[in-house]
Amino acid sequence: LVASATSPGLYVIHIAAEMAPVAKVGGLGDVVSGLCKALQKKGHLAEIILPKYDCIQYDRIRDFRALDVVIESYFDGQSFKNKIYVGTIEGLPVYFIEPHHPDKFFWRGKFYGEHDDFRRFSYFSRAALEFLLQAGKKPDIIHCHDWQTAFVAPLYWDVYAPKGLNSARICFTCHNFEYQGTAPASHLESCGLDAHHLNRPDRMQDNSAHDRVNSVKGGVVFSNIVTTVSPTYAQEVRTAEGGHGLHSTLSTHSKKFLGILNGIDTDAWNPATDTFLEVQYNANDLQGKAQNKEALRRDLGLSSADVRRPLLGCITRLVPQKGVHLIRHAIYRTLELGGQFVLLGSSPVPHIQREFEGIANNFQNHDHARLILKYDESLSHVIYAASDMFIIPSIFEPCGLTQMISMRYGAIPIVRKTGGLNDSVFDVDDDTVPSQFQNGFTFLNADEPGINGALDRAFNLYMNNPEIWQQLVRKDMNMDFSWDTSAAQYEDIYSMSVARARATKK
Ligand code: ADP
Repeated sequence: LVASATSPGLYVIHIAAEMAPVAKVGGLGDVVSGLCKALQKKGHLAEIILPKYDCIQYDRIRDFRALDVVIESYFDGQSFKNKIYVGTIEGLPVYFIEPHHPDKFFWRGKFYGEHDDFRRFSYFSRAALEFLLQAGKKPDIIHCHDWQTAFVAPLYWDVYAPKGLNSARICFTCHNFEYQGTAPASHLESCGLDAHHLNRPDRMQDNSAHDRVNSVKGGVVFSNIVTTVSPTYAQEVRTAEGGHGLHSTLSTHSKKFLGILNGIDTDAWNPATDTFLEVQYNANDLQGKAQNKEALRRDLGLSSADVRRPLLGCITRLVPQKGVHLIRHAIYRTLELGGQFVLLGSSPVPHIQREFEGIANNFQNHDHARLILKYDESLSHVIYAASDMFIIPSIFEPCGLTQMISMRYGAIPIVRKTGGLNDSVFDVDDDTVPSQFQNGFTFLNADEPGINGALDRAFNLYMNNPEIWQQLVRKDMNMDFSWDTSAAQYEDIYSMSVARARATKK
């Protein structure tokens, strides 16, 4: 096994289902790599454990190799072998767990959405801890994410601490309380958790279905630190409307629960060095941005007749959370206002995917609108660079990264005031906000008049005040959305938790 390096800082191990850029579905993947890179820069040792999915982008892993060990882990009353691989992703050490289980848990050609996800990820959570135990690792913090690896928290205290894996405090981050990982209580037994002991209202019992257990609730109850991804969302999920059934649990555990706004990986998202772009540019050279707009219009077959015609971008998973009806409305409204609209998105929800395929077909040869219904990382970079404005009309938004990425690329965000959008986008017309923070257009009501109001104001400024618009673009591009500040907050809470544990051990 690979010995853990000794580091003067903290030793933090993230156990997660995603990591950008090799295994990314959404923001979770960005957060795992962005936060770990920032921790590493601050002198901490950050390692990541991922499932060895067949669909990982293996060409982006350096020094990828199998370790000469087999880890046996428990599941369904038996012991299964796991092969462990190691590699470096953007400078970060990553371990991959490949279960040799007949169900081929991570050989499905996709990350999520399988009928046995609860089994797949409870297996992975246990195998990851087994690996840490057998490798003799002594992390200060084990940080798990979302329902898929929330099992780590109860498994750590109930199964692994008694076996001697007891150096760590557990941090759990929930990136979206909509996804909670519930199953009949008996399903917990597979990974060796005691269903009888855990299916109680103060432990893992689901708050609305009492014969079911809830993995996110387990993460909240059994972790030392619980975070979510923005201060506003941390408030929202403590209300009955926003908590997806967990508001009372979060209120009970409010002392250890806080919202820390995500950052973005400013190396991966940097228009001055971005190799996906036809032309790199920065805040002092907006001509380069204009060339990217031209290039995207050409590549998508949109009209280039009017350079001043504003281009509105939207890059999103097409799920109800993202306000799909408002996105659809924004396409038509943008055209009415004389703009162009480019949507990059895909949907795991069949009726939404079908609906947008219908709209995409209608606009197939349109001069001013194009819908591209797939996941495409390189195209996403080009759209951020080409867009003048960027729309995010979410119904709720734990943090949201696209508003920060769009600002870094000089596309002005138009967002609904909710969750992390409320903590990062401040209206240019809001006099209560100091002008250096005003950076976009916001609206409150999740309806057509709401979104129209913000769109109209954005178009008005773009069309009638080009100089002020350019100043706004430069200001947004120079704003700091790096992980530095947020990683410092994680550093603080990790350190406080570790110090508290050491104090009570003395
Ligand atoms: P969520 O995690 O809810 O999907 P976030 O705003 O936190 O939303 O993160 C979305 C991330 O996924 C961003 O990096 C965005 O660029 C990327 N993304 C979303 N949809 C697509 C797509 N169709 N193609 C490429 N990247 C996408």
